[in-house]
Amino acid sequence: MTVRYQMPVAGEWRDAADGGTMPAINPFDQEVHGWIPVATETDVEDAISAARGAFASCWRKTGPGERARLLNRVADLIDADADRLALLETTDNGKVIRETHNQMGYAARIFRYYAAWADKLHGDVVPLDQKDTLDLTIRVPFGVVACVTAWNSPVAILTNTLPAALAAGNCVILKPSEHASATTLEIARICEAAGFPSGVVQVVTGGGDVGRWLISSARVDKVSFTGSPGVGRLIAQAAGANLKPVTMELGGKSPNIVFDDADFDRALIGALAGIFGATGQTCIAGSRLLVQRGIYERMVDALAKRAGRIRMGDPRLKATEMGTAANEPQFTKILSFIDAAKGDGARLVAGGRRADGPGLEQGFFIEPTIFADVRNDMKVAREEIFGPVLSIIPFDEEDEAIAIANDTPYGLASGVWSENIGRCMRMMRAIDSGVVWINTYRVAAPQAPFGGMKDSGFGRVRGEAGILEFTQTKTVFVDFSGDRRDPFSMKF
Ligand code: NAD
Repeated sequence: MTVRYQMPVAGEWRDAADGGTMPAINPFDQEVHGWIPVATETDVEDAISAARGAFASCWRKTGPGERARLLNRVADLIDADADRLALLETTDNGKVIRETHNQMGYAARIFRYYAAWADKLHGDVVPLDQKDTLDLTIRVPFGVVACVTAWNSPVAILTNTLPAALAAGNCVILKPSEHASATTLEIARICEAAGFPSGVVQVVTGGGDVGRWLISSARVDKVSFTGSPGVGRLIAQAAGANLKPVTMELGGKSPNIVFDDADFDRALIGALAGIFGATGQTCIAGSRLLVQRGIYERMVDALAKRAGRIRMGDPRLKATEMGTAANEPQFTKILSFIDAAKGDGARLVAGGRRADGPGLEQGFFIEPTIFADVRNDMKVAREEIFGPVLSIIPFDEEDEAIAIANDTPYGLASGVWSENIGRCMRMMRAIDSGVVWINTYRVAAPQAPFGGMKDSGFGRVRGEAGILEFTQTKTVFVDFSGDRRDPFSMKF
C-alpha cells in the first residue's frame, strides 16, 4: 500500500501549497511506499507564524506539570505503537528491525526522561554585595526552535531534541531528511493525539531548500542541526547572519582502539558493533580500528571471518543482522570509497563489493568490508563513509595510538579496549572526542550527554546538558531598599 502523507502545519494536515511530492522508497526492494509533501516557502512561513502564535498565546503560559503530562502521554502512545513505527522506520531507511524496535522503546524513554525535567529547570538566588537587592535567575525557553535532521535514525535523532525542547517550553518545527520522513510525520501525529496544542509541534518535509528557508528565518529563535559537517557549515553561516544560537550534531571518523591486553573476544564484538551495526550508517561508527601490533594479525583474521558470516537480508526479519544502504546516493558513495581504498593500496580482507546473494538483488546491499594495513592519511581513514567499511590501522605504543586517534578533523566518539585501568583512564583523557567508550561501544542513555568536538559539532543532546541547550538564563533584580537613588550612576 502506498500512503499519501501530509504535513502538520498551522493547525491542519496539509499537502504542499503547490501540491509537490517526493517518493518514500524502501531501500530493500526499491518500492515506493509513500508520497511525502515537498513544502514550499509559503508552507515554511505558515509553520513559523503558527509556532510564533502558539508560543505567544498559550505554550509559554503552559505550566511544567502540563508539559510533563503531554510528554508522558507521547511516551505511552509510542510504546503502544512501537511495532508499527519500527516497521515503518525499517521500510523507510532499511535499518534492521532488531534495532529500530529498540529505538522506539528508547524514544519513549527519552520522552519520559524529559517529562520529568519539565518542573526541574530551577533558577538560583544569587548572593549580591548590594544587601537590599535580590537577584533571581530563571530559565526561559527560546520560543521557536527549528530541528533539521538526518536520515539514518529519524526517530532516535528527533528524540534527541524534540522532547527536551518541548519540556523547556519551546515550540518546535521539525524538518526531517528527504530520504526518510515518514516516521517523523507519525511522531507528530502522536504528539497531536497526546493533546499538544496546535502549532507547538509541526513538520515541514522536503529537501535542503526547505531546511534553508526554515533556519534562515529571523523569526526562528534557535536551530538544532543533525547532519553532515558540510551542511552544518552552511547552517551555521545562515543562523549566524541572524545571530541565532545553533546546536550542531555532525559526523565522525571514530577511532576504536584495541590494546594487546584487551579481552580479545569482547573487543572483537565491539569492533563489529562499531562498524557493522546499523550498516555503518551511524555518526558514531567506529570506522578506524586501531589494533596493537601483538594481536594485529589475529584480530584482522578473526574480524574478516566474522564479517563474512554476517547475515544480510530483509531488514524486516528479526534474524537479519545487517540491512541495506539507506538510499541510492549513499549506496553509490560507499562503493566509490571502497574503490578509492583499493586504489590507495589498502589490503582488502573482507567484502569489497555490492552484495547480490539470493534475496538481495533488489536492495542497496554492500558486503561488510574490511581493509587492513590502512595508513591514517588514506582517504578511507580520513573521510566519513557512513557505511559498512572498516579501516584497520596497526600501532605499537600508547602514544602512537593517541596521535593516530586524534589525527582527524572529527571528534565525536571513540572506543578503548584494555584490561589496564590506568591505561584506560589515560586514553579517556587524551582522546579528543565527545564520547569515550571503555570496553564497550555504541551504548547510549537518555541521562548521558552526547555530542561532538572539532568538526563533529558543538552543544550537547540528552541529559541535563541536552535540555539546558533549549533554555536561556534571565536574571531578575528586585530592589527592596526603598532608596531614592542617583539616576545618573549605575548601581554596582
Ligand atoms: P545532510 O547534512 O546531507 O542533511 C541533513 C539535513 O539537512 C537534511 O534534512 C537535509 O535536507 C538538510 N539540508 C541540506 N542542505 C541544507 C541547507 N542548505 N540548509 C538547511 N538544511 C539543509 O546529512 P545526511 O546525509 O542526511 O546525514 C548524514 C550525516 O549526518 C552524517 O555526517 C552523520 O554522521 C550525521 N549524523 C550525525 C548525528 C549526530 O548525532 N552527531 C546523528 C546522525 C547523523
